[in-house]
Amino acid sequence: MDNKFPGKDISLDDLKSKIPLCAKKNIKHKSIVKVRNVEFGGNKIPFLAGPNTVENYKMIGKVGKFLKSIKISGLRGGAFKPLTFPYRSKKYYETKLDGLRWLKETKNKYGLIATTEIMELKYLDDICHSTDIIQIGSRNMQNYPLLTECAKTQMPIMLKRHYGSSLRDWLGAAEYILAEGNKNVILCERGVSVPHTHRSSSRFLMDLQVIPAVQEICHLPIISDPSHATFWAPWVESMTLASIAAGADGILIEVHPDPKNAAVDPLQPLNFNQFKTLIQKSKKVAKSINKKIV
Ligand code: PEP
Ligand code: MN
Repeated sequence: MDNKFPGKDISLDDLKSKIPLCAKKNIKHKSIVKVRNVEFGGNKIPFLAGPNTVENYKMIGKVGKFLKSIKISGLRGGAFKPLTFPYRSKKYYETKLDGLRWLKETKNKYGLIATTEIMELKYLDDICHSTDIIQIGSRNMQNYPLLTECAKTQMPIMLKRHYGSSLRDWLGAAEYILAEGNKNVILCERGVSVPHTHRSSSRFLMDLQVIPAVQEICHLPIISDPSHATFWAPWVESMTLASIAAGADGILIEVHPDPKNAAVDPLQPLNFNQFKTLIQKSKKVAKSINKKIV
């Protein structure tokens, strides 16, 4: 097969026969995924910010109120959490249906859009009724029955990249969602596994280059998650600004009222002041490329 496309990973033939729905139909074609009044893929850059875990109502309420006060549109928070090891301490709990209820009440109270991760199909209905974007976590990127069932709801879906997957695998997974007639797919880069990560506690490396790589061949919006990629709050600001400069269509980021006491991954969330500063800087970078932070 003649492969004139730059790079070896995705061939011209793949674009035609394996990921035809992901592929750009022509140079200009780019999709906008609309989530209520918030658009991903246009000239606005929505932030989805919040804790790793919806720990309790008071805490998620604080985050919601804060986001509203600085005009940020999106709230994130997990009620179901994949943990690398099966043992949960008193701090490492899942709030499940309670967490979904708190998320819903908070997003409604402050007029935010919200996203949460799905782990099991049995909670699909509850998640659809409590949030606006279904998050498929990196670990489930290739769980095809889960992708297909989520796709059928026609809800917007944020598909995180598995940390070991190529762009070809990732777009193959996105194609499963598009193949169900659901065009509301948002890709999310969250760092990949590599032999060296510059710091012993960070397991992943942010693949900034994948942002233009996706945009070259695929019409779907792509957002960036610097929190999971760096696993280290002091690096989150620079990687967020770099993601915006690289063309990211949105940012998923961990923000916690009291990071050192976060139930999960206390090293990665920003506190409210750090996040405020980051938003001010992000606005400047966005302005330089004619985009706007929302
Ligand atoms: C998350 O966003 O909370 C999460 C678990 O992310 P990932 O699937 O990328 O590890
Ligand atoms: Mn997390």
